[in-house]
Amino acid sequence: MIQELQFSYRSDQKPVFCPGCGDFGVTAAVIKALTDLKIPRHNVVVVTGIGCSSSIAHQFATYGIHSLHGRLLPVAMGVKLANPKLTVIGAGGDGDGYGIGLNHLIHTARRNFDLTYIVMNNEIYGLTVGQYSPTSLKGMKTKSSPYGAVDNPVNPIALAITAGATYVARGFSGDIPHLAELIKNGILHKGFALIDVFSPCVTFNNYNTYDWFRERIYKLDSSNHNPKDISKALEKALEFPNNGIDRIPIGLFYEADRPTYEEEDITVSKMSVSEADKPSRELIEEILSRYR
Ligand code: SF4
Repeated sequence: MIQELQFSYRSDQKPVFCPGCGDFGVTAAVIKALTDLKIPRHNVVVVTGIGCSSSIAHQFATYGIHSLHGRLLPVAMGVKLANPKLTVIGAGGDGDGYGIGLNHLIHTARRNFDLTYIVMNNEIYGLTVGQYSPTSLKGMKTKSSPYGAVDNPVNPIALAITAGATYVARGFSGDIPHLAELIKNGILHKGFALIDVFSPCVTFNNYNTYDWFRERIYKLDSSNHNPKDISKALEKALEFPNNGIDRIPIGLFYEADRPTYEEEDITVSKMSVSEADKPSRELIEEILSRYR
């Protein structure tokens, strides 16, 4: 029974997503990836920020931290520094990760922490009821841009590649098996993995709908792309409607081998929690008793 439980990743918490929200597909894809990888759930930590999508932490029967707006990556790095053996997954939205948290994305990528970061990119602020976000297309009309968004959108794929991320992919929550495969390979990858996910907001984004994405996306594979070639990866990253191209690639854009931060920083291996330093049951009980 205990053996089975450690590979059971879905919690008993009711989702707060609107019916049809793309974040349901992301939840299912993460569970499929963990199930395929059979990582005991006590070794998995899901760290989220703030936004509709960040409530995803409650959907998993793993450890989880629902942290601060835009700050999930520093928290995830802290978890990884404390115990590099854990599988740490960051998850949040485009406002959280590409707006207020954008600087953390750049620094986590250049350090190449061994983390998997899933960004549910719906190109709008859902939780605050429909303002344009850092990835909204130029000209998009929303409650906060009634005459059309003036800003150019952030290009997360190009940004992550140039910042130093060593696994950069994009999925679609309307294609769960494909997305689960990207997440699984992102977890297996040694280094920082960014997985940007088109995850439609069915309540506030009437423009970037499931159909809008289905009409435009195509898959990268060995017949049309080499993810080891950084120049080609950047070329693919620039294929986007805002650049006048109406086809959008999904799949693995870029992958590279580079030592992780945890491997390069000798203090991490000396100071992090190891098997030998495991706190005693008495100490754990004593700490827990302070919160009862
Ligand atoms: S407001 Fe949009 S992003 Fe938020 S739960 Fe509803 S559909 Fe999903």
